[in-house]
Amino acid sequence: MVKFKKRTCDHCKCDFTPTGAKSVMCSAMCRFNSKVIRHKDGCWEWTGSVNSSGYGSVFLNGSLIGAHVFSYITFVGKVAAGQMVLHSCDNPKCVNPKHLSVGNQKDNMKDMKDRNRRSYPCGQDCKTSKLSDDSVAQILERAGNGECLQSIANTFNVDRTTVLSAIKRNTWKCVDVNWSSAFEMYRQRKFRRLLLKHKREFVQEMQEMISNGMATKCVCRLFSVEPRLLRKFLSEAVA
Ligand SMILES: [Zn+2]
Ligand SMILES: [Zn+2]
Repeated sequence: MVKFKKRTCDHCKCDFTPTGAKSVMCSAMCRFNSKVIRHKDGCWEWTGSVNSSGYGSVFLNGSLIGAHVFSYITFVGKVAAGQMVLHSCDNPKCVNPKHLSVGNQKDNMKDMKDRNRRSYPCGQDCKTSKLSDDSVAQILERAGNGECLQSIANTFNVDRTTVLSAIKRNTWKCVDVNWSSAFEMYRQRKFRRLLLKHKREFVQEMQEMISNGMATKCVCRLFSVEPRLLRKFLSEAVA
């Protein structure tokens, strides 16, 4: 290993032995502190590099982690696997350990929803969007009522894929009214298409289960098909 000459830390002014030609500070702690501004309102603003979601990032033992995560680990304690560090102050750049807590992904989503915080513009706030939040809600409502996607697309003067991705929640995630029934309708349609494709095998299996004494309800649940549809398939198979 190459030995570097001792130098003075840019931040705390102590003497240290650098581990690389470019290291100008003695520790991760000094690198962290040199990039933090402590504001009067209590937030510690990270002035170093930030990722695309607006969170600061730091190198710790060779890997890149969130500056807020570094702060939590350093000042508070461990972050268990599957847990993430959340902000109570709604400021992604803040690294004040007093404004941080741990929780899981679910807590984070709830948090975001409660505060209506979005880490990136979504829906009509997004400059490139062709639709308003209102029209997306209408689209979802119509889809939930079973209207054909192409006709919805025509009405709103967009592509069918735009409608579909709103239903599948690839886009417009922030509009959550009317969404679940639209998605349920989509799922059922997709499943029906699948059934038509593999109908013979499916129906045979269903028949076998029912003749083996399994309750219709259970078979429906297994194949996630409505009772009405199941009866239809079975009667067609008999005919
Ligand atoms: Zn130092
Ligand atoms: Zn804060």
